[in-house]
Amino acid sequence: MDLPAHHKVIIIGSGPAGDTAALYAARAELQPLVIAGMQPGGQLTITTDVENFPGFPDGIMGPEMMELFRKQAERFGSKFLYKTVTAVDFSERPYKVTAEDREFTADAVIIATGATAKLLGLESESNLMGYGVSACATCDGFFFRGKEVVVVGGGDSAMEEATFLTKFASKVTIVHRREELRASKIMQQRALQNEKIEFVWNKTVLEVLGDKENGGVTGARLKDTKTGEESVISCDGFFLAIGHTPNSSLFTKTLEMDDVGYIITKPDSSKTSIPGVFACGDVQDSVYRQAVTAAGSGCMAAIDAEHYLSELDFER
Ligand code: NAP
Repeated sequence: MDLPAHHKVIIIGSGPAGDTAALYAARAELQPLVIAGMQPGGQLTITTDVENFPGFPDGIMGPEMMELFRKQAERFGSKFLYKTVTAVDFSERPYKVTAEDREFTADAVIIATGATAKLLGLESESNLMGYGVSACATCDGFFFRGKEVVVVGGGDSAMEEATFLTKFASKVTIVHRREELRASKIMQQRALQNEKIEFVWNKTVLEVLGDKENGGVTGARLKDTKTGEESVISCDGFFLAIGHTPNSSLFTKTLEMDDVGYIITKPDSSKTSIPGVFACGDVQDSVYRQAVTAAGSGCMAAIDAEHYLSELDFER
């Protein structure tokens, strides 16, 4: 693609945050370049139906929604480059952004690289993703009304997701690899007192059972960490709640981050510790992690970038 080397705004990432930032930046005539990254469209491209994004009363498939996001951003002049950013240099202006074999400069950079739900790393798990396997109870819980589901994990996410899933599921079984929970006391109590939740302790998952073509997940094969004994638990849904990793390794030692690697933004803004570098979406949000909140923060980042650039123009 014939792209200029310099851009007013470069957006790294193309999920709901990046694409919304692109839409707003393009409508502010900043001609943004979006470097789409290794999973163009972001996490929604691995989900099926999205029923909680306002404006789609009948729901929409995740990949289709992200195509609409991209088209809307392109309509106003955003350019998308399907490469992954391999290096950044924010030590002087203009900032340098390297995307594989291409080097660009930008007056402002918006980081929207998202987060990745941790998975167990089983072949059966990736095979059945979207067919009963999910890493987002808020997104997919609704599909398990009256069904039995398993939640893997022992932290706050697992307790929260399991408790949320009891709204729909007839039974929720939390499978944890130890006999002690990592979750905060209050979240533990809530789950332990819930009559619909059962706990299976000291078990790791060896395989998710089921067939994509024949109704998806049917259960999971477990192994006892103390006795080594194997067992099978039957379920219709299999939820991972073993944490998320923010995709921020490119910015380690450059931007301020918390202990886990979430980029810290200044209160009520998308400003990072470097002027002219903004962050939005899941890479800076460990709490809400929803498409609609990511889109909202992408809008904030574009507005912040626009203000920053007009001040920069004024200074010149
Ligand atoms: P987390 O605290 O890191 O807990 C992850 C859980 O998954 C742990 O119990 C861990 O087991 C288990 N796990 C990790 N890898 C595993 C694997 N490969 N196989 C089996 N189990 C595995 O993550 P989180 O629950 O997502 O919470 C992240 C942060 O967000 C925490 O600070 C939490 O307090 C916060 N949070 C808060 C709320 C809330 O307050 N409403 C809700 C959600 C999250 P081990 O315990 O054995 O390591």
